[in-house]
Amino acid sequence: MSRAIYPGSFDPVTLGHLDIIKRSAEMFDELIVGVLVNTAKSPLFSLEERVNMLENVVSDIPNVRVVGFEGLLVDFARQNDIKVIVRGLRAVTDFEYELQIAQSNRKVAPDIDTVFLTTNIEYSYLSSSIVKEYASFGVDVKDFVPEHVREMLCERYEIENA
Ligand code: ADP
Repeated sequence: MSRAIYPGSFDPVTLGHLDIIKRSAEMFDELIVGVLVNTAKSPLFSLEERVNMLENVVSDIPNVRVVGFEGLLVDFARQNDIKVIVRGLRAVTDFEYELQIAQSNRKVAPDIDTVFLTTNIEYSYLSSSIVKEYASFGVDVKDFVPEHVREMLCERYEIENA
């Protein structure tokens, strides 16, 4: 059975992330969406909220499982018999950082590979940070995130949910 992990902060999950999830779910028997406890970032949504949010938006994709995790990605992958890490590439600016992470992961875990999916052009400008910035100023983010996430953003920023 082929099992892959798509790791990220997903703070919050965007339509760009969801596009990568749907496409990679078709490539593997099981896709784990790994929601990171990232100590370097202070998230808008707690780990539990991000996991619940993702579970809600992937509920119609049967071979996707959402898991929160802490610690080293390759350790988590090994413990869960995961051989492939999926990452999305939006632009050349993502490339250098992603290459560095993928190569160092491969150095410490040669049995695990990273595959990159290029972003759907429609979402190539999109990031969780932009979504948060817009939502915090009351911009309607319906074109950027699933409806459930839009509602959670409105609630968090105390914006009237139109
Ligand atoms: P991280 O905290 O690891 O940077 P993110 O949650 O921002 O994580 O993103 C997780 C993964 O999704 C990364 O591989 C990132 O390149 C990819 N990604 C982020 N935004 C988009 C998007 N708009 N379209 C496709 N992939 C994206």
